Amino acid sequence: MLAEFTAELSHIVEDPARLLTAPAVLDRLSHDFYWYSPILREQLASRNGDVAVLPVSVHELLAVLRLARRRGVPVTLRGAGTGNYGQCVPLEGGLILDLSLMDKLEKITADGVAVCQPGLRLGALETEARMQGWELRMYPSTLVKSTLGGFLAGGSGGIGSVTHGGLRDFDTVRAFEVATLEQEPRIVLHEGPAIHEILHAWGTNGVLTRIWFALAPAVEWTQLTAAFPTFEQAFRFTRSIAADPAWSKRLATVFEWPIPSFFAPIKKTVRAGQALALLMIATAQADALRSAAEAAGGELTFIGNYDGPRTQPLLSDYTWNHTTLWAMKSDPAWTYLQCGFSVTDCEEQFRLLRERFGQEILFHVEFMKNGDGVVAPIAIPIVRFTTADRLNEMIDFCRSIGVFVANPHVNCLEGGGRFRADNIQLLAKQKYDPEGLLNPGKMISFHKQAVAS
Ligand SMILES: Cc1cc2nc3c(=O)[nH]c(=O)nc-3n(C[C@H](O)[C@H](O)[C@H](O)COP(=O)(O)OP(=O)(O)OC[C@H]3O[C@@H](n4cnc5c(N)ncnc54)[C@H](O)[C@@H]3O)c2cc1C
Repeated sequence: MLAEFTAELSHIVEDPARLLTAPAVLDRLSHDFYWYSPILREQLASRNGDVAVLPVSVHELLAVLRLARRRGVPVTLRGAGTGNYGQCVPLEGGLILDLSLMDKLEKITADGVAVCQPGLRLGALETEARMQGWELRMYPSTLVKSTLGGFLAGGSGGIGSVTHGGLRDFDTVRAFEVATLEQEPRIVLHEGPAIHEILHAWGTNGVLTRIWFALAPAVEWTQLTAAFPTFEQAFRFTRSIAADPAWSKRLATVFEWPIPSFFAPIKKTVRAGQALALLMIATAQADALRSAAEAAGGELTFIGNYDGPRTQPLLSDYTWNHTTLWAMKSDPAWTYLQCGFSVTDCEEQFRLLRERFGQEILFHVEFMKNGDGVVAPIAIPIVRFTTADRLNEMIDFCRSIGVFVANPHVNCLEGGGRFRADNIQLLAKQKYDPEGLLNPGKMISFHKQAVAS
């Protein structure tokens, strides 16, 4: 059956180099950074797709989908495979559709909207946008590698979110075209509120094929680090910058000690035993920021220009989910959580967590504007893993004290905590993928409808 499917694919895919069956290649294309989680590591290591195709056009993509639908073969989409939760790991084998060759930037409109294909790398878009006077409103710390389609389907926000919110906010994702897996696959335009049917749905209910992504006017940025004797000082200073609209900023991150000790390549910016703040601020405000940091008891330990994704050092490489990577490089027993702390009670929540879990949890805070325009401390704390029970105890405790947790140790949309309570993602799956072939097993509330005889 699979041999026949692969043979039929070879008639559709024009270049045999884009039809992949070598086991080592399939193993690579079947995995992402799921191993961040010791729990997902066990569950997903052996899950593989059976064949992979790299389409180069919507026409070819639709022909492949048509065949998969006719043959009842599962289809898992892949951008760059930098997701953290096994989002693109095929649970039921089948076809991997790698969209990384559909990477054209059609244009940037006069009002700053990038019109592009899903496989476009965010780093390439940032570079081109800045040449035209624009820049990404927000990007994950995997900027250089990750694709726009993968970001919209799997990510949530990142560097820039302190000013522009997350992907779901402020009309950043203007529209996209989506290929369906109906009996006759077709392209459907989603715009305005309809984007939320597909956004952050892990490729379970449609394939993004063309995207309208709003940019921001480019700013000349300066990167800075400041060390503070205590986490409290560093946190309060960083919050004061993040929450004050007078500061033009792209990044406001703070780490308690010993997290900065994990950052080997930028160890010159680190002071033993001290907390560290990482910021990107408009160059015109850099001097004022230095004075503000010093007035708050900090020491400026690095200052340098941001010249695009290839800047060295690129401070964003130590923020968002990259922080976890540095911790795991230092000691594989570290893992992480993804939390939303209270705007008003966060310091008390930190205290309660420290009291209960001691150094099993280390605080790494990012500031992000929410959809109501409030800048809130969201955190990606580093957590020492011992057992699944202990990890769940920590998650339960967080929730009991009002800390939101998007659990990164589960491999389904519903478990992660960002599944749409209004069910529009599920309704879209019922409509666009009634056979449940798109990334099966990741939207567990979906059940194939019995066909009335
Ligand atoms: C070190 C590290 C740091 C990270 N930092 C951040 C961060 O700051 N913010 C953040 O949001 N995320 C972050 N992530 C997660 C991830 O890197 C981003 O979300 C990234 O944008 C995903 O893009 P990708 O191309 O790698 O997608 P993939 O991992 O390939 O795919 C992600 C999901 O999207 C689906 N998908 C891919 N293409 C399409 C398409 N065309 N249509 C429909 N579905 C599709 C896949 O099936 C999968 O479910 C981080 C991950 C790591 C490992």
